[in-house]
Amino acid sequence: MTTRKNRILDINELKEQLDNADIYEDDEGNKLQTTYLGDIRSVTPSGKVYMPFACGNLEPCPRCSGTGEIKNKHGKRKKHEKILKKFRLIWQRIENVELVTKLQKQRDWWSPMSICPECDGIGSLEARLDEDWWNQLEIELDEIGAWSHISEDDGCDIMISRNASGVNEYDN
Ligand SMILES: [Zn+2]
Repeated sequence: MTTRKNRILDINELKEQLDNADIYEDDEGNKLQTTYLGDIRSVTPSGKVYMPFACGNLEPCPRCSGTGEIKNKHGKRKKHEKILKKFRLIWQRIENVELVTKLQKQRDWWSPMSICPECDGIGSLEARLDEDWWNQLEIELDEIGAWSHISEDDGCDIMISRNASGVNEYDN
């Protein structure tokens, strides 16, 4: 999988919308500006609304059938168990970072199963693409000191907010 390089936001357009938004105070007295980004069902890759504990509407990953793991082609159960045993032995002096890193590499190499690269262990490709999208959104919003949150009125509406008092910090 390639990482998403396309930008999600037209950051100048969004910034202008925030500049024009009314300043209001939240419960804690913070001065905020908020604007509407879009409906989860139309802006996220999957277009689906779900919770970690209620995600039955997601398609399982085609590569790992939703388990999040695939068979490791060089995995060897015996060797893997040996490494795990070593791990337990060195647990008391875990500050030996080099040794721990070396053992971790060996453990992953011999492990009978490895993390599915398609869904990154999540078990659903849709969920993985959504996660990438949310991460990318956060990175882009960071540039203008803003963050996303779900509207309290409508669980499908994604809102963008920023501190009104911090506006000048991010002005170029
Ligand atoms: Zn998978």
